[in-house]
Amino acid sequence: MAVTEVAQSRRVVTEIPGPKSRELQERRVAAVAKGVGSVLPVYVTRAGGGIIEDVDGNALIDFGSGIAVTNVGNADPRVVERSAEQLGRFTHTCFMVNPYEAYVEVCEALNRITPGDHEKRSILLNSGAEAVENAVKIARSATGRQAVVVFDHAYHGRTNLTMALTAKNMPYKQGFGPFAGEVHRMPMAYPYRWPTGPENCGPEAAAMVIDQITKQIGADNVAAVVIEPIQGEGGFIEPAPGFLPAIVEFCRANGIVFVADEVQTGFARTGDMFACDHEGVVPDLITTAKGIAGGLPLAAVTGRAELMDAVHGGGLGGTYGGNPTACAAASASLEAIESDDLVGRAREIGDLMLGRLRKLAEEHPVIGDVRGRGAMIAIELVEEDRTPAPKVLAEVLSYCHSQGLVLLSAGTYGNVIRMLPPLVIGDDLLNEGLDILADAFARL
Ligand SMILES: *Cc1c(COP(=O)(O)O)cnc(C)c1O
Repeated sequence: MAVTEVAQSRRVVTEIPGPKSRELQERRVAAVAKGVGSVLPVYVTRAGGGIIEDVDGNALIDFGSGIAVTNVGNADPRVVERSAEQLGRFTHTCFMVNPYEAYVEVCEALNRITPGDHEKRSILLNSGAEAVENAVKIARSATGRQAVVVFDHAYHGRTNLTMALTAKNMPYKQGFGPFAGEVHRMPMAYPYRWPTGPENCGPEAAAMVIDQITKQIGADNVAAVVIEPIQGEGGFIEPAPGFLPAIVEFCRANGIVFVADEVQTGFARTGDMFACDHEGVVPDLITTAKGIAGGLPLAAVTGRAELMDAVHGGGLGGTYGGNPTACAAASASLEAIESDDLVGRAREIGDLMLGRLRKLAEEHPVIGDVRGRGAMIAIELVEEDRTPAPKVLAEVLSYCHSQGLVLLSAGTYGNVIRMLPPLVIGDDLLNEGLDILADAFARL
């Protein structure tokens, strides 16, 4: 099956969304539950590289990667070929009924590339939330403890337990309670908003967290600390240097399972294979999903063999977990990440974006902070006194969308623009997207 190459240039030939997208949107409103939103309701026909094509003949620049999923690009030919080959042989057996090699192969790859050279095991699941749920199950089972520590601005998913782990009420939790118990929230080392300044943030925040865990929960009662090594939906908050290593050290000393939720940051996204690698942090368990399989639904928990194997036989699983087609896609995608050096490419993307955005911030004081690593970069928009400026964000986003740039927001205060281009995007499209963003600020 030959895939036609998607031309790598922006093309805007109608209003965005165009008439055909608007027609589809009407059908959608009548058929699809309203609770599911869409950032930019242009209906897609094809995508590849840094471009998304829509039903009206527009070609949009992709700064979202379907929320950090298509790291290797949309419909990468190697991913398509391996998945199609697998589809033609068998579509499903259920790994819990009759196993297959593709599942084992993905687990072997994950055990090899995740941080730390200790003996590891993996389990495959369907979604990021399911991976986080399973990490908590494993940590509780292995430690015999119940409490779970999470952080301000955290996002871990939309299932009942992961809603409890997630910080932000609207839209994720409003009206969906009661939530799971034994979840304890701690302050986050948020350098831009740390009261005594970013240089003090790492050590002060770590001391505060350790004190609160000790005094309010009791370290002996804590099964797991769950944290995103760079927070995603919470606004691409990069914890201040030293924070993560200090928390890991505390966990080690107290028999607490340190869980890195790398669902968004994983697979070369941040300019390291995993964001934990940046400070040499070795998590006990790591959850992955989004970037794992080039767009097919797959997720995993990978971790220390003695923790992973502590769960009784039959205690973990699921009908579709590690679907063979998704596994084939993951193997192809992981190979592509390594052979194309997408870690290196993510760093180049980060250098280009950070350089241009820092200049832009000098011209526009509304850009209060520029942050992130690799191809996970954000700007935080503020008024005076660092008051969040969500209305400015709405204006900027709406202009960028009208010009054919797919751009996402994030942040507890709804004032962060986040950029997650596919790692295969070219510099020309990257620069063109940033030009559009610069125009948007110039027009404010
Ligand atoms: C997206 C995300 C999740 C949830 O993943 P789903 O596949 O949407 O369930 C969990 N944790 C983090 C850090 C995420 O970014």
